[in-house]
Amino acid sequence: MTLFDSIAFEGHEGVHAFHDEKTGLKAIVAIHSTARGPAAGGCRMWPYATASEALDDALRLARGMTYKNAVADLDLGGGKSVIIGDSRTQKTPELFEAFGRAVEQLGGRYWTAEDVGVSPEDLTATSRTTRFVAGLEGRKSSSGDPSPVTAEGVFRGIGLAVKHGMGAESVNGATVAIQGVGHVGAYLAEKLHAAGARLIVTDVNDAALRQVAEKTGAQVVPTASIFDVEADVFAPCALGGAISAETLPRLRARVIAGGANNQLASLEIGRQVFERGITYAPDYVINGGGIINVASEIRGLQGDVAYDPAWVAAKLDRLMQTLDEVLARSTEEARPSHEIAGEIARKRIDEARAS
Ligand code: NAD
Repeated sequence: MTLFDSIAFEGHEGVHAFHDEKTGLKAIVAIHSTARGPAAGGCRMWPYATASEALDDALRLARGMTYKNAVADLDLGGGKSVIIGDSRTQKTPELFEAFGRAVEQLGGRYWTAEDVGVSPEDLTATSRTTRFVAGLEGRKSSSGDPSPVTAEGVFRGIGLAVKHGMGAESVNGATVAIQGVGHVGAYLAEKLHAAGARLIVTDVNDAALRQVAEKTGAQVVPTASIFDVEADVFAPCALGGAISAETLPRLRARVIAGGANNQLASLEIGRQVFERGITYAPDYVINGGGIINVASEIRGLQGDVAYDPAWVAAKLDRLMQTLDEVLARSTEEARPSHEIAGEIARKRIDEARAS
């Protein structure tokens, strides 16, 4: 199969492959859409077994960023980059400088940032050779850790989901099961606890789990049991694919709303979630706070202005209005929420393309 036949390629404006012999860099930058502005999305470093696996990941992630950025109403398109390699053993500053030169060649059509396997220090090396990088430390435009903003959006999104799904006024008194108490999950647990929710938590990292349980009084359960607990809300905050044909029948929650990316193992599962009467807050809508925070840094770098928390707060408010609209329409139109979110994103992208 050639690149142009790949289903994931469809709709991409450009896909760029870079090789630097001296540093061993092998990178792919996928630009899905620049209709709403320069394509933005992080750089992932991963030991892909084959180049075609790396390409598929870049294409899938880039398209996802177009949707996430549009639904968050950012003046950004969607793109993503992947570096083929093991982030634990194959990182060098020179490799990330070579990556920066690759990004610079694209002339600002793509902005990079952190993703799995890439740290702020790596981006500092990248910034020596390109202007088009966010997620840097120590500059007036620096946006810092996006997790608190993501968690704030997820917390408010859970509030909206229990309103639509359970007719509840707030999370006070509701039981929320959180899968994964890393950066986002831990901030989320504190916010839910302060708002009067009862928590059940799990993680593969015992230290993180203990810390959250001490702070919030959460009940701790083994990782495999989180799908079986008696809870009103299931909040996936670990890795992708939490909602699958295996886990969905076990869930007792009436609401699924959490911070993880790619929560649905397939689009078909999204439909089954809906058919079971579960209210689902689409992942790329409820977790858009993080990209809003990064967008504020890109905005700062483009205009040489400081990080603006008021701008971030206003964008997050608007995103929450969009989530409210998605959930209301899902009930009114009797259709899965992720299909409605997709339509809203596509409409915004098409309008931008036409103008
Ligand atoms: P993180 O790595 O800090 O936290 C993930 C946690 O999940 C870790 O504590 C890990 O030990 C745990 N975990 C892994 N496998 C698990 C399993 N099988 N069962 C239970 N726990 C498990 O990452 P994060 O920044 O908190 O992000 C969490 C999710 O949210 C990811 O899917 C990420 O892509 C998504 N997300 C994060 C942000 C952000 O601002 N950080 C923004 C948007 C989306």
